[in-house]
Formats: sequence, structure tokens, C-alpha cells
Amino acid sequence: MKEKKKSSTQILLGYAGDRKPLTYLGLVLSGLSMLLSMTPYLCVWLVVRELVAVAPDWTRAETISRYGWVAFAFAVGGIVLYFAGLMCTHLSAFRVASNIRKQGVARVMKAPLGYFDANASGLIRGRLDASAADTESLLAHHLADVVGAAVLFLSMLVLMLVFDWRMGCACLLAAVISILAMFSMMGGKNAGHLAAYQAAQDRMTKAGTEYVRGIPVVKIFQQTVYSFRAFKEAIDAYSDNAEKYQSEVCEKPQSVNLTFTEGAFVFLVPVVLFLAPRAVVSGDLAGLITDFAFYGVFSAIISTALAKLMFASGNTMLANIALDRISHVMDAPALETVQDPKTPQDSRMEFRDVSFTYEGATVPALSHVSFTAEPGQTVALVGPSGGGKTTAASLIPRFWDVTSGTVAVGGVDVRQIDPHVLMEQVAFVFQNDRLFKTSILENVRMARPSATREQVLAALSAAQCDDILDKLPDGIDTVIGTAGTYLSGGEQQRIALARAILKDAPIVVLDEATAFADPENEVLIQRALAKLTAGRTVIMIAHRLSTVVGADQILVLHEGQLVERGTHTELTARGGLYARMWADYNQAVQWKLGERQAV
Ligand code: ADP
Repeated sequence: MKEKKKSSTQILLGYAGDRKPLTYLGLVLSGLSMLLSMTPYLCVWLVVRELVAVAPDWTRAETISRYGWVAFAFAVGGIVLYFAGLMCTHLSAFRVASNIRKQGVARVMKAPLGYFDANASGLIRGRLDASAADTESLLAHHLADVVGAAVLFLSMLVLMLVFDWRMGCACLLAAVISILAMFSMMGGKNAGHLAAYQAAQDRMTKAGTEYVRGIPVVKIFQQTVYSFRAFKEAIDAYSDNAEKYQSEVCEKPQSVNLTFTEGAFVFLVPVVLFLAPRAVVSGDLAGLITDFAFYGVFSAIISTALAKLMFASGNTMLANIALDRISHVMDAPALETVQDPKTPQDSRMEFRDVSFTYEGATVPALSHVSFTAEPGQTVALVGPSGGGKTTAASLIPRFWDVTSGTVAVGGVDVRQIDPHVLMEQVAFVFQNDRLFKTSILENVRMARPSATREQVLAALSAAQCDDILDKLPDGIDTVIGTAGTYLSGGEQQRIALARAILKDAPIVVLDEATAFADPENEVLIQRALAKLTAGRTVIMIAHRLSTVVGADQILVLHEGQLVERGTHTELTARGGLYARMWADYNQAVQWKLGERQAV
């Protein structure tokens, strides 16, 4: 356990770069500050010693004010050193947090696009941010506290045993009993109680979140708060658990703990009574009384110091959790790149015996698929849902890399092409293409940052977006997402198509959109698609068979296998899966027409 803690903190400190020594300096300062802040206790002892020595003529106690000042100076010195130490640990911790963020982002940038499918970018950001923040409190505060507590404990141990080891042992015994009592509340059979208590607390937090989220629903549907039975039950369960934990588990140990923390001198009394006769004989009764007073004051602190040190191990968990989250991001797979990339010769697209299995999946999403799209040809991927169409399209921009076989663009394996060149070569239009909260001009220009305003306008026009620009207050400069400028799904799709048109790549991979809200948008999108695909090699995932009739080649994918290929005429004549799909499609269209006529 200890070894692990050391290593996770060390790993985190690795991110501090040249500020790492500052952490060590900070820890040393924190330890020193603890030593300084112990000095006032020594002064108390000296004062008591002097008072006992001069009793009852207190006026002879001349040096006690000096001890007072010394105690004050050391206390202030301790605080100053503590702050200086914290400053050092903070400077280093800030660097760690910022380096974790920077390196995490750099790492994620190298990951294949498919990585973001399984790891939403918001989640990655959340993970990086939260862990970076966690490491900050760990490295800036907790570590210094652990060192402080260790120094406190060790120096107290030394002090206790130096003055009078017998009284020291009596105090330690009290401390050990109180610590054992404290731990008995958490370990052994009580661990189950603690776990149940924590689980009840978790449930209540979650139910609380649900409750807050559901408030609008309650308001809209005029429900009563009693609709949130789950929340109430969670609160009841928590309060039952808390009560049970407190009465069955905590009551006795906590009483023992407090008794021995606050009343350690109970052990001191018999020891002093035992030592007193000898002290009287040796004439050092004053010394004995001084020591007794000192231990009386000190005894309360030792168990606190011990507890602090033991609970500090809880921070190990914090460090490990933060590190886990960080390594999850840092272990993101990197897209493999080659030393001497090759340049695609033309816009031919080729799948040669391609198989692909998703990580963790048992059956391949694609198996032994081969086809070629000659320059300028349109190849449509059709088939039942789950057949592998999206997977096949995703392998072209290297969302994932093939498990076996080759995906080639312009005669070159995509893995041999510089990723930037590959991206220039292929334009992608997927269903969930995002528009950013910036102007339409910038949204489209993202595809080709060097494009002029006129070129962007031309692309928008080709994508049938003129009507969108006309109705927006600032035309092409309107910022999307600001008040009143939300675009419908179909409109967003047309802007995404303008992006692809502006990119002017020789190969287009597109997921033909399914959900058009209105027929007018559909017509415009079809026109925009015609502009985008003209003269280019097109790989199209087709959801509606009406759009594939004119394709040069139709590939029917079923359960990852390429089961049929050919033109529409060839495939309908064959009477296979495609022919059946076509018949179903026509029937559906007729039903729809029937519905419309009926209305
Ligand atoms: P289609 O586009 O034809 O509907 P997909 O390519 O989306 O088919 O899916 C092919 C198979 O791969 C399906 O069995 C699907 O469940 C699986 N699959 C798709 N995406 C993932 C993923 N990210 N992880 C694991 N399996 C996936």
C-alpha cells in the first residue's frame, strides 16, 4: 500500500518538470514549520519548571516573559515557514495540473477519431479537468500535511520519551487505545456497516440530483413532490443507516476514543504516584511536578498527531483515483504514422479483403470485404441495420484501423498516407456533423482555412443555403447558436454540405441523412448532394433505396459480409436480398402515398 502511494505521487510529480524540486523544498519547509510550532510547548515546560522552582515567591520568576516571547517568535516563524512551504508546493502543483492538461490534450489529439466515439470529448475534458484539480489539492496541501503530521508525531515521540520515558509511555498507551477505538469503527465486521452507510449516502446524492433535474417536469405536469418517492426512500434509508451506524457501531468506540484523547492523564496519575516517593527521597519533587504538568498538556495532542498521520493514508486513494483517470486519457491509443509517408496517386478507393472487429467484440463488424470505387464513381453501401455500412465508411478516414486487409486511397494503404494528406484527400459528411458556435462563414471555412469570403459564399450557394443566409440578421456573419439563430436539422445539414463542397476533396464519404423534417429541405439537400458529388469518387451510406438507383455500384452488406454487388438493374433482376429490400421499399412508399391521398 505504502509502495503504491509513493509511486502514484511520484508519477504525478513527474508532471512538475523543473518545478519538482519546489515540492521537496515545500515539504521540508512544512516539516520545519511543524518543528518551530512545537517550540512553544517546550517553553510551557520551561515556564512551569521555573514557576515550580520559585513557588511560592512568583516575583522571582523573571525569565518567564522571555520564554513567552520566544514562544511567540517561534509560533510566528512556524506560520511564516508554513506559508512559504505552501507557496512552493502550490507553484509546483499548478505546473503539474497545467502539464497534465496540456499533455492530455496533446495525447488525445493523436488518437484516432474512433476514440471519440467511445469517449465523448466532454467526458475527456471533464476527466482531465477534475483530475488536474484533484492533483492540485493533493500535491499543494495534503502532501505538506502528511509531512507535517509525520514530523509532529516523531518529534512528539522524542519529546515524550526524553523528559520522562515512563510518563511518555503512559501517554502513548492512552493514544494507542484511542486510535484502536477509532479504527474499530471502520475495520473488521464494522467495515460492512460503514460501506452500507456510504452506499446509502451515495444513493441519496444521486436521488437528489434526479429530484432537482425532475423539478421542471413536476412543475409542468402539476405533480406533487410525492412523485419523488425514490428520493424520499433514499433519505429514509440514509437516516436509518446513519442512526444504526451511530448507535450500533460508533457509540462505544467513540466514547473510548474521546475519553482517552481528552483524559490521557488518567494514566499519568498512577505513574506519578508510583514515582513520587522516589522523587521525594531524591529531593526532585519539583521536577516531577513540572514533568507531570508538561505531559498533562501534551497528552491530548499525541493522539491527534497519530490520527492525522494515519488518516493521511486516505490521500493515497485520492492520488490513485486521479492517476487512474489521467492514465485513462494518457493511454489513449495513438494513430500510428509512418516515417516516409506515400502520396495517393488518384482518387481510387479500394477495400482489399478487409476485416474489422471492434475492441471487445466477439464477432467481426466486417469480414473479408473487397471492392473498388474507380475515380468519379459512386458506390452505395446498403443493407440491414448493423450490416457494417458505417464501420466500412469509418475505416477510410482511419476512425479505426483494419484488423486485417487493406483500405487504400489512390493506390496507397491509408496507414501509409500522412494523416493530414489523407484528410485533404477525403471529405466526410456524417449525420452528426457539428456546427460550432461561431459565424456561418467560419463554420464553413473550417474545411479550408485559406478560402476567401467569396469562395465560402459560392460553396454555401452550391449547397442551397441562400435561403438560410437571407433570413438570418447578419447573413453569413451570423453567429450560430446565439439568440434566435438556431437552425433546423435540415439547415444544419446543408451547411455541413457547404463545408464539404468548399473542401473540394477528390473523394467524398457521406452518410446520406435519413431524418429530414420537411420535404422542402429534402429537395434542397438532394440538390446540394448532387453538387458535392459531381465528378468525385463517392462512397455513400444509403438509407433510402431511392437515392442509390443511379449509383455505379451497389454493395449490399449483411452481418459484416458483402453479400451482393452490382447496379440497381442487375441486383433487382437477381432476386436476392437487395431485390427484397427494393420490393419492401416500394411497398412502404406506396403506403405513404396512400396515407397522403387518404388525408
Ligand atoms: P450499419 O451502419 O450497417 O447499421 P454498423 O457499421 O454501425 O452497421 O455496425 C456493424 C456492427 O458493428 C454492428 O453489429 C454493431 O453493433 C457493431 N458496432 C458498431 N459500432 C460499434 C462500436 N463503436 N463498438 C462496438 N461495436 C460496434
